[in-house]
Amino acid sequence: RLEVTHLAKSFDRRRVVDDVSLSVMPGQVTCLLGPSGCGKSTTLRIIAGVDRPDAGRIAVDGALICDSTTSVPPEDRSIGLMFQDFALFPHLSVAQNVAFGLGRGRDVAPRVAEMLARVDLPDYGNRYPHELSGGEQQRVALARAIAPRPRIMLMDEPFSGLDDRLRDEIRDQTLDVLKAEGTAVLLVTHEPGEAMRMADEIALMRDGRIVQRGAPYNIYNTPVDLAAAAFFSDIN
Ligand code: ATP
Ligand code: MG
Repeated sequence: RLEVTHLAKSFDRRRVVDDVSLSVMPGQVTCLLGPSGCGKSTTLRIIAGVDRPDAGRIAVDGALICDSTTSVPPEDRSIGLMFQDFALFPHLSVAQNVAFGLGRGRDVAPRVAEMLARVDLPDYGNRYPHELSGGEQQRVALARAIAPRPRIMLMDEPFSGLDDRLRDEIRDQTLDVLKAEGTAVLLVTHEPGEAMRMADEIALMRDGRIVQRGAPYNIYNTPVDLAAAAFFSDIN
């Protein structure tokens, strides 16, 4: 379970993240939805631990990982990351890519095989990234992100580089895999259609603030104001 409370961050005295609170339950998807520049990626970077907040508190499964005096390093947060440009290592095989975050234990090979089977690429372990299609690379990236069993998965527009049909397919597969693993997912998108399709809960963000939170159809049917209604009107 991810719990974020009263997060704030300014750049050059401008509030980019302004009193953001949100939570994600295991096996659930919360979408952080909002227009370009509203502070989505900054929020994710702070949760991942690659950026520090000015104020606020972050906890994973009840354990404090960040507040004004504590900052657990990113690699110890049990948080996985999938970003659009989060490329595979070109010089490593598919299996080596998936094994990357697993250390050197004896159970690495079976876990890699399990993950590759999960994303329907069971025989791809010895291939190299340049021998894979874009969609296949994306699925390997998913396997790599999930292999270490992170409690939380942060995804920043991870499907935006794909064509429509492939995107739907990989989106659904990603959700299935993450739900099966019981991972709490925080997914950033600027597309209301994607949020409607994927989210258990939507947190609507504007100018650094969460302006509305709720189930997708509640937000769609009862937008908090005209701007929220307009944002949802160009759904695709
Ligand atoms: P998009 O949908 O375009 O990815 P976003 O919601 O992810 O947008 P952020 O990347 O979080 O937006 O940026 C929010 C605001 O903070 C923007 O105005 C951006 O220019 C500003 N910003 C982000 N990082 C920095 C930085 N390191 N220094 C100064 N300003 C920054
Ligand atoms: Mg962004």
